[in-house]
This record gives sequence, structure tokens and C-alpha cells, in this order.
Amino acid sequence: MNIGFKFNNTYAKLPEVMATKLNPVPVKSPKLTIFNHEFAKEIGLDTANISTNDLAILFSGNKLPEGSEPLAQAYSGHQFGHFTMLGDGRAIVLGEHLTPKGKLLDIQFKGSGRTPYSRSGDGRAALKPMLREYLISEAMHHLNIPTTRSLCVVETGEIVQRELPLKGAILTRVASSHLRVGTFQYLRVKNDISSLSKLLDYTIKRHYPELKDKEHKALELFKAVLKKQTKLIADWMRVAFIHGVMNTDNMTISGETIDYGPCAFMDYYDPRTVFSSIDEQGRYAYGNQPYIAEWNLARFAEALIPLFHKEEKKAVDLAIEAVDQFKSIFKGDFTEMMKKKLGLISSNNDDEKLIKDLFEIMFKNKADYTNTFMYLMNGSVPQDSLFKDSKFIEWEKKWNLRIKTGQDHNEAKEIMKQNNPVIIPRNHLVEDVLEKANEGDLKPFNDFLSLSKKPYEDLSDDKQKQPAPLNAEDRKSTRLNSSHLVISYAVFCLK
Ligand code: AMP
Ligand code: MG
Repeated sequence: MNIGFKFNNTYAKLPEVMATKLNPVPVKSPKLTIFNHEFAKEIGLDTANISTNDLAILFSGNKLPEGSEPLAQAYSGHQFGHFTMLGDGRAIVLGEHLTPKGKLLDIQFKGSGRTPYSRSGDGRAALKPMLREYLISEAMHHLNIPTTRSLCVVETGEIVQRELPLKGAILTRVASSHLRVGTFQYLRVKNDISSLSKLLDYTIKRHYPELKDKEHKALELFKAVLKKQTKLIADWMRVAFIHGVMNTDNMTISGETIDYGPCAFMDYYDPRTVFSSIDEQGRYAYGNQPYIAEWNLARFAEALIPLFHKEEKKAVDLAIEAVDQFKSIFKGDFTEMMKKKLGLISSNNDDEKLIKDLFEIMFKNKADYTNTFMYLMNGSVPQDSLFKDSKFIEWEKKWNLRIKTGQDHNEAKEIMKQNNPVIIPRNHLVEDVLEKANEGDLKPFNDFLSLSKKPYEDLSDDKQKQPAPLNAEDRKSTRLNSSHLVISYAVFCLK
């Protein structure tokens, strides 16, 4: 039962302390819920001669593909600011598959049973959150944002006990790797500098081979990851994405978005928006994401300190200096991203103010984030009070003048089209299709997924463009009252 996996398992050769080799725990009666045939083909898998039933057996872990060397990875992390020893408590990496293009990809089961890192958890996952990860990760990919991918979801035929009994499922996640800030923290806290050094070389070989012969490899790796992360966060903010659990174990070294738990897309522009019910302090609110990325990167730098320089004082100075770069690099990425959303190609000293003013007007009007930019692109959107506000009308006049001066208007429109999605997976609709899928009706889920795969095309489905009714979203998400969050970090950076 091989569908073309070519395993070339490198992680299994790292120091023993970094993983535990073990198989997924078999499940009662696997049933295939969804399979990403398009993606499977892209990575060199061939499913033409395998039955749906056999796919379910394979992707539940009931039968292992040839060449796999299943393991649970060890890592630690800061969860909501508190350091904890973690590890794959409900996931197993089958191995790394070599694609026809020569890329190594982790094939991971999520929800595959208990491991030595499970603590009090059952090692299992429920159907709805696994389908949510499948849907949002695929949507993010088609929004052109680096992300782990989803290959399939298999129902286990078992019940997982949460507050209520739920249907169990396993997601097959595909990632450039599962190396995280927390992987480095894990070895640092153990003071295992020899393994840390091996991990550094491994990471460079796998993700940043251009740094191989650099004199200050660790510092260069840190700077490269920082650049990937500032771009990623700016990209999240471009499409109103709120990750929801930016713990250091959920920040990848590859720069891919990972772990779609309580994530959601914001409708109404408010930097304080939080969807996760457990995030009571708003730590991972929309506008706080850059602060947290910077905080997580500071933890990454701390973990690397022994490799920055042999003299500790010098190493610490280098770490501080490197982390200090975050603000200016992020500001550059954020401004560039926003300029594209507004079709500002040439440079103009007033651009930062123009961007900042728009955010203020959007915030005051509780404007729908996505629809505001859609309006600027093509003038047609559902009703929104924003468009009647005299401040907005005045702002729009300035913006119109700006995009027609000193640059090609058509080129500006084209750039806007590539950067402003028309369709985002609005949370109230996501909840709806997940609920129906859970009840066994997958059609709404599949239809929604199809639309999410073409986010920049105006398919004129008005339902997809409507934000949740204001009071309904207020019930689902929290808007914090703390005033320091009103102006997001991103906007705060601007002139
Ligand atoms: P996450 O919130 O998915 O990033 O997971 C954080 C940590 O909790 C990771 O170490 C997971 O492996 C672990 N975890 C989450 N859910 C479970 C579960 N049902 N059983 C065991 N460990 C879990
Ligand atoms: Mg995680």
C-alpha cells in the first residue's frame, strides 16, 4: 500500500534526546472525510490506484507506509508567557517525504494517540478542529501566505471526550519542517549545548543552506528567521488573520504559519479583536501580533546565546542588538504591505500618514476590514457606515489624488488586486460549515473550501462578503477595554 512516499528521514538521526520513536496508536474504524488530491499530486503522491478505504487505513496510522520511521518530537515553549516542557503529545511525524522537486516535507499525523509527551491529554483530536485546520491552512495557502498544508482528514470511529463527547479524527499535516522556537528552547533549558549546535547545523542545512559557511552561523540564522517572521506577521495582518495562540512552540523556524487552533479572520477593524476564549488578557489580539512575534524572537535569541559567541557578555550584546532590529524591519514590511493594499507604488513622504489615517477612520466606524479595501479597489461593497463618514470621503479624495500622481494607475489597480482578497473565511461562516460537516453533511464545507481557494477572484457571492452581524461577532469575539491596544503596534510604528 504505497502511494509514492519517498522517505528520507533526517530528523530521526538527530540526538536521541530530541524525539521518541514510536508508532501511532491504531484506531477503531477509519473513514476518509476529505483528501487533498490536488496537493497530493503536487508533492508526487499517486492516489489513482488506491481505494478510499485503503487511504483511510493509511492515513489513520493503522498501516504504516514503507520507509516511515514514526517519531514524536520533543520541544518546550512559552505558553501565554509561561515556560513549559512540551513535545508532540498528540502528533507523530511519519518521516520526511522527498518531493519530485527535491523538497523535504514532514508528513505528520495530528490526533494519532498518546506519546510520552502527552501529560494528562488523550493524544486524540476531534473532527471539527481538524477540519478547521484543513480549511484555514488551505485558505492561507491560496491567500499566498506561507503555511503548513493539509493532506487529509480521517475520522477514527472513536469518541473523544471533551466537555461533550465528540467525533475523533486525524489530520495529516505537511510542513517544511516542525522545527520551532520551542525546539531550540528545549535543548537550551537542558543546557545540552552539543545537541543545540547539531540542531543549528541541521536547521541551516534544511532551511537556510546559504548560511552554511558563514562565520557567525547562529546569529545569521536568527536574523534570517526574524526576517521571515516579520514578513509573515505583516502578511497575516494584510488579510485580517488572528492566529490566536502565538506561543513559542507555535512559531516555526521555516516561517510557515502553524497550528490552527482558535484562529480566525477579523471582520470589523479593531486591533483589540480576540477570538480565543482562553485569551482573557488579549495577549494574542490582532494588533498585538507584532509585539508577540518580537517577544518570541527574543526567546529564540536567548536559546541561541551559547552559539552566538563564546564570551557570554559579547553573546548577550549580540542578541540584544539583533532583537532590536525587529521594529524597523517589521515597520518596513508592514508599510510595504499596506502600500500594496492601497496601490501606492511610488514613494511619497505622506504615505505613512495616509495609512495611519485610514486605520483611525476604519476603527471609529467599525468598518469591515476586507470590504474597505474591496471598496477602494472597485467601488462596490455591501452597506457600511464608513463610506458615508465625511472623514472617509475626505481621505478617499486624498488617496485618489495620490494613486493618480507619479505612477501608473493600471499597475496600481493590478497590485491592489493581488493583495486584497475579496473572500476571506469569515468566522461565522466557518463555524456554520464545520457544524454541518460534523453532522455528516460535507457539501457546505466543500463549497466553502472551493471559494476559499480563489480568494482574489470576485465570484460575487454576497454571503461570503458579509461580516457577521455586529452583535453576533461581539458575542463570539472579545474586544478588550485596555486602551494600550487600541492602536496596534503596526500603526504605532508609522509616522
Ligand atoms: P497546541 O495547542 O496544539 O499547540 O498544543 C500544545 C501542547 O499540548 C502540545 O505539546 C500538544 O502536543 C499538547 N496537546 C494538545 N492536545 C493534546 C491532547 N489531546 N493530548 C495530548 N497532548 C495534547
Ligand atoms: Mg502547537
